Amino acid sequence: MTLPATAIAANLAEVRERIAVVARAAGRAPESVTLVAVSKGHGTEAVQAALACGQRVFGENRVQEAEAKWTPLREIRTDLDLHLIGPLQTNKTADALQLFDTIETLDRARLVDRLHTDRDRLGTAARTRALFVQVNTGEEPQKAGVAPGAADAFIADARARLGLEIAGLMCIPPLDEEPAPHFALLAKIAARNGISGLSMGMSADYETAVAFGATHVRIGTAIFGAR
Ligand SMILES: *Cc1c(COP(=O)(O)O)cnc(C)c1O
Repeated sequence: MTLPATAIAANLAEVRERIAVVARAAGRAPESVTLVAVSKGHGTEAVQAALACGQRVFGENRVQEAEAKWTPLREIRTDLDLHLIGPLQTNKTADALQLFDTIETLDRARLVDRLHTDRDRLGTAARTRALFVQVNTGEEPQKAGVAPGAADAFIADARARLGLEIAGLMCIPPLDEEPAPHFALLAKIAARNGISGLSMGMSADYETAVAFGATHVRIGTAIFGAR
């Protein structure tokens, strides 16, 4: 179900305003929070409506869906910033590197190794500039991400062995828990590792996330409606 462009415009304006209010209340500049509009499950029409409102940063969780949707748009727009926010399989790393500006879901050594090798091999064809490590703050078995206790070593390995710059950390708190302690934990891991990017907060909890220092909020439903 795709909302009319006017509804998407109104939703975007409301989300931006709410982010700004919470950011200011926390003593932060509203511009210090990047709104990643999550367009997974929605088509080109919905994306065009957001583009018409000046939105340029988008999130997708599947490489193939993103390729089909964004390759034509890339040809007419050079100012997009696409984030991969879903799990990445090692056989899709080359595709992901050519499509996404930011990959938020580094979570295992084998994936980091593949990204490193493929980035070298692709050279200038690789578009990805920023890598985030996903942390499974709730230690949920079904969820991707590095365990909080393993995060420091994982980050150190990616940096030291491969010379990769880690721009941020990302988390998805458990559905049935207060998100605040998870956001606080992610912020703590980032701070002790000298990492400035914090991708946390979705439609239901982005205001809390901004209060806890989110630099990126990933919002789908509150902008585009139900999937
Ligand atoms: C789908 C998704 C979102 C957006 O969720 P909403 O609740 O629709 O805002 C954010 N982050 C990730 C990783 C997602 O998969």
